[in-house]
Amino acid sequence: MRLKRLLALAAGLMLTAAPVLAREGAQDAPVQVALTMDDLPVHGPLPPGLTRAEVARRVLAAFKTAGVPEVYGFVNAKGLEEGDDAAQVLTLWRQAGYPLGNHVYAHDDLHGHDVAAFTAAVTADEAALKHYMGDADWHWLRFPYLHIGETPEKRRAVAAFLKDHGYRVAEVTLSFNDYLYNAPYARCMAKGDQAVVAQLRQNYLDRAAESLTIGRQQARTLYGRDVPHVMLLHIGAFETVMLPELLSLMKAQGATFVPLAQAEADPIYAPNPDAPSDGTGGLLDREMASRHLPTPAHSPDPSPWLDTVCR
Ligand SMILES: [Zn+2]
Repeated sequence: MRLKRLLALAAGLMLTAAPVLAREGAQDAPVQVALTMDDLPVHGPLPPGLTRAEVARRVLAAFKTAGVPEVYGFVNAKGLEEGDDAAQVLTLWRQAGYPLGNHVYAHDDLHGHDVAAFTAAVTADEAALKHYMGDADWHWLRFPYLHIGETPEKRRAVAAFLKDHGYRVAEVTLSFNDYLYNAPYARCMAKGDQAVVAQLRQNYLDRAAESLTIGRQQARTLYGRDVPHVMLLHIGAFETVMLPELLSLMKAQGATFVPLAQAEADPIYAPNPDAPSDGTGGLLDREMASRHLPTPAHSPDPSPWLDTVCR
């Protein structure tokens, strides 16, 4: 047990010491970022004493303190089955003046399922969106797992459905799998292991900074310029700890926070179901793959380390 813990600590130190990509001249130049948060109202395990509503309160307070004008919250309405605490998340989101969008009823995966089943699950999410959004615009779809369809046929069929029903796709250009930290955070808090929590914080921040650096490099490689970005976050317990630092860090890297529609007004966000793709990954990753450009260098996947800590 003790050896396992030491090994986990050592692995953590190696990961947090991984160098963020070399600085470039344009790295801190202004860049627009639309923030989005997935899996409302229920995502990941909670540490002792924290409720879903309290997660939402703290996350919203961090966004407001940083002056973020809009954060779309993407809803899996099935989560409302958890009761009042979950429902409170959506109420708080709306009270903060932020909009909600469709993340498919039960986080249904388009890959491995047919288009009819998927579009039925998209429709099943709408009653909750109408209830909480009223006359405001909830016609944005975030694909669960960022799976947009394995084949051009499937992508075309879903794109036609979305167009008919007035939806736009909320793409993602920046992601660092922030959700990976919630389970280890809950375990470490239950054990009172603040040393490991400190390592989780540093690793999260290193990878967040790296994702913005890589996204900007990808945009310059693909389009020869900076583009407005869309960042994917999840409404997990660890964001209550990290969001203030994340938002400060992004501002220091030159980020200005903008609404989703403003970011996606850029032509790079025009739907293109026929682009060669396996239908996975964010927009820039898919574009890089379709042009046979190599995946940019990045720090190692922290999952093996995260899976071992605080067991
Ligand atoms: Zn999701």
